[in-house]
This record gives sequence, C-alpha cells and structure tokens, in this order.
Amino acid sequence: MPTYDYDLFVIGAGSGGVRAARIAAKHGARVAIAEERYFGGTCVNVGCIPKKLLVYAAHCRDEFEDAAGFGWTVGPRTFAWPQLIANKNNEIARLNGVYERLLKNAGVTIFKTRATLRDRHTLAVGDKTVTAGKVLIATGGWPSVPTVPGKEHIVTSNEAFFLPDVPKRVLIVGGGYIAVEFAGIFHGLGARVTQIYRGALFLRGFDEDIRRHMAEECLCRGIDLRFNVDVVEIEKRRGAAGTSFAVDLSDKSTAEVDLVLYATGRVPSTKGLGLEAVGVALAPSGAVIVDEGWETSVPDIYAIGDVTDRIKLTPVAINEGHVLADRLFGRANRHMSYEHVPSAVFSIPPIGTVGLTEAQARARFGEVHVYKSSFRPLKHTLSGRNEQTFLKLVVDPKTDVVLGVHMVGAEAGEIVQGFAVALKCGATKAQFDATVGIHPTAAEEFVTMRERYVPRTDAAE
Ligand code: NDP
Repeated sequence: MPTYDYDLFVIGAGSGGVRAARIAAKHGARVAIAEERYFGGTCVNVGCIPKKLLVYAAHCRDEFEDAAGFGWTVGPRTFAWPQLIANKNNEIARLNGVYERLLKNAGVTIFKTRATLRDRHTLAVGDKTVTAGKVLIATGGWPSVPTVPGKEHIVTSNEAFFLPDVPKRVLIVGGGYIAVEFAGIFHGLGARVTQIYRGALFLRGFDEDIRRHMAEECLCRGIDLRFNVDVVEIEKRRGAAGTSFAVDLSDKSTAEVDLVLYATGRVPSTKGLGLEAVGVALAPSGAVIVDEGWETSVPDIYAIGDVTDRIKLTPVAINEGHVLADRLFGRANRHMSYEHVPSAVFSIPPIGTVGLTEAQARARFGEVHVYKSSFRPLKHTLSGRNEQTFLKLVVDPKTDVVLGVHMVGAEAGEIVQGFAVALKCGATKAQFDATVGIHPTAAEEFVTMRERYVPRTDAAE
C-alpha cells in the first residue's frame, strides 16, 4: 500500500468542503484542506448569509410603514448603507473564524493557498508538493456574465455586497434566485429598481403560478419588472452628479442607472486546478462529472457542491460532503437522495417550495389534483399593505400523495421547511387534511384547503 501525506485532500473550504474535511477527520482520516480566498465559500462570504442580512435590512422599511396601521408613529428615518455593510462584514469575519476553528479543532491541516492537481495522488500546494490517497474538489462556482458591449461596467453579486453606497437607480439583469433577491433588497433600501429578464416569465423552474404571483407582487411593490428584454449596450456617463450608466435595452428603451447588476447564473470553478491534465471529465458547462458516489472519471478524485452539475444549494453541498466522508472513512454505505430538496427565494415576499411543480407532476404522473389559495394576510388587514399570500398543493390522485408544496408569502422558507419533512415521509392529502391547523397563521391554509382547483375551461366542459 503506498503511503500518502494525507488520506484526504480537499480543495476548497466552502460549505461542502469544510463538512467533508471535518467529518473525514472525525472518522480518523488524516485530512488537509486548501483555500485561497475565504473560509465558508460563497454562502458565507458573498451568498446566503450576507444576502439574508441585507434582506432583513430591506424588510425594515416594510415594518416602519406597516407600523402606522397598528397605532405607531415612526419618526423620521435614515438609512446608512456603510453601517449595514460594516456590521455585515464583522459578522462574516466572525463566521470565517468559526469555519477555520472548526477545521483546526477537527485536526484538519489548513493551507491558505491554491492547490493544483499534478497527478491522481499528487498536488502542488503553494510552493509545496503533497500526496493524498483521495482528493475532493469542492471549489464551488463563480458568477457568469454574457458578453455584451460595456460589460466592464457591470457588477455581479460578488461586488454588490461591498458597494460604497446604495445606488439610487439599479438595473438588474436576470430572472433567477439572485436577481429576484437583489431586486427586493435594493428596492427595500430605497433604490429605483428595474429588473429585466430575457424570457416571457422569470423564475424558470419554479411552479408557473408561483412565478406569475411573484411577478405581480414585484410590480405591485413598484419594481419595474420587464420580460422579453435584454441588454444591447452599456455606456458609462460622467456628469455633475457622478458616474451613471445608460443601458440600451432590446425593447428600444434606455435605462439611466447608477448600477448595473448582472445575475445571469453561475459557472463551476474548475479552471487552473489541473483537472484536464489528470483526465477528470468535465461537462460542456465546465462542471465536474461525478457518479452517484461523487467519484469523478478518475478513481480517488471526487467532487461535490456547485462545481458539479447537481442542485446548487448550500445544504445540498453540506449533505454531499457529509455522506461522502461517511462513505470513504466511516465505512458507512450511505446514499443521498435528491428528492424533495426544499428551497426558498429570499425575495420580498419570499418563495418557499418543495417537491414537484404542477407541470413536472403532470409530466410524471399524468393527471394531478391542484389546490390553491390566495389571500390577504391578517397582518395586512390593519397595515393596509397590498400584498397577497399564495399557497399551492399538487397531489397525485391515484395515491393521494402530496407531490408539491409551493408558497409566496411571509416566512415561506420557514413554513415550507416543515412541510418538506411531511413530503419526505410521503404524506398524503388526507393526512394534510387530518392535521389540525395553528390559528391564525398563513401555514394553516396548507391543512385546510378542501376545494380542488378546477380550471375554468375544464369546468365548462
Ligand atoms: P439562476 O440560474 O437561478 O438564474 C440565472 C438567470 O439569468 C436566469 O433567469 C437566466 O435565464 C438568466 N440568464 C442566464 N444567461 C443569460 C444571458 N446570457 N442573458 C440574459 N439572461 C441570462 O442563477 P443565479 O445567478 O440567480 O443563482 C445561481 C444559483 O445559486 C441558483 O441556481 C441557485 O441554485 C443558487 N442560489 C440559491 C439561493 C437560495 O437558495 N435562496 C440564492 C441565490 C442563489 P433563463 O431562465 O432564461 O435561463
């Protein structure tokens, strides 16, 4: 048996890499990890965590406005973006430290530098060469921006978290998670937001009703949301008031803005890792191709998280890292299911979803039963806010199993997380109906929807 410096070498100390390293070390493996940028990866530094903190800040505006209906007089208010960013940065620095300590306490050797594969078991780590029995690629992803004239003037989510001030006018390009979330953030913090999406309806992949409802909520809030529109050219302008951008759009209009944020997807970070040299097969997207055990085309080299072509969500990467470490070093024959992975878009209002969309369910099961409910949340009967909560269940009529739970409304992520357990357990509509609601909540609607939704065309037949 050859002896290596380490049993496992992890490249990338993001959510997935850190979990795999820690668990492998706990199983007794000799583990090293290399990280050239920041501990905690995208989620901790330029993703989930700072995003959610900014969403809280944006929500404050609603809270101030809504308070009047409950008898409060809220005095003059000012908002200091630099204060928010400084506080956010402090919290992120704390979390970076937590991640590093977790690794050290688990006995993982840390290299704060880039690691590159030389062969299947050998890596160049800074100016050192080390060997490892197994290598795990957990390098995540990076924002991808299409080629467009004036591309050098745009920012991505990476930079949006460190802007010197909140822009007065923002153009957001894209219709996915990040675009919708930042539209809510900037709008809540007082910017005039224009969001453009190249297709007919944003949030592709989500349930059609959720997409439509969300579009209505965005428009109702005052976000200038436009579909079937793309950027033609971005031109920088310098005026007395400072730098701005004139963005020519495909609908023949020009948006005059202070910031152009592209949220047009993320690509796997696979460049410069030596993957091609050692023969690790990549998909056309650049993603590392892995089998069910996360092994790449090269034995003993594994990959998890956003660098692969699976679901790009932090908890998925963490699960993958944990299960992989158990399989490799804990002698556990564990597998991970990608069914019923819940997710939330932290838009304002947020979206929560688990299971199949109506369209996916129809494609898989043929006929499905649908239950929908749209209502004004109790809070807004006094606040006066014009916001509707929307809930939807998709049910297999043959087995009565609930296939999908979807929601737009306050705390949708918190609510749907609980229902994800029910779906994981194969809950039926009858079991939903037999569950007593908590009154008065929005979530209780999920267990009180008795009237099946019948489209008008069907009803007329
Ligand atoms: P998404 O893949 O969610 O969305 C990308 C958007 O950009 C889509 O609307 C896409 O349009 C559009 N787009 C892609 N290419 C172009 C182009 N060339 N020109 C114009 N528009 C384009 O990516 P995000 O960047 O929003 O997020 C990346 C991933 O990170 C997400 O998929 C998600 O998995 C994860 N994430 C999760 C969050 C959460 O859990 N809350 C939050 C943020 C990110 P089209 O639909 O037509 O392809």
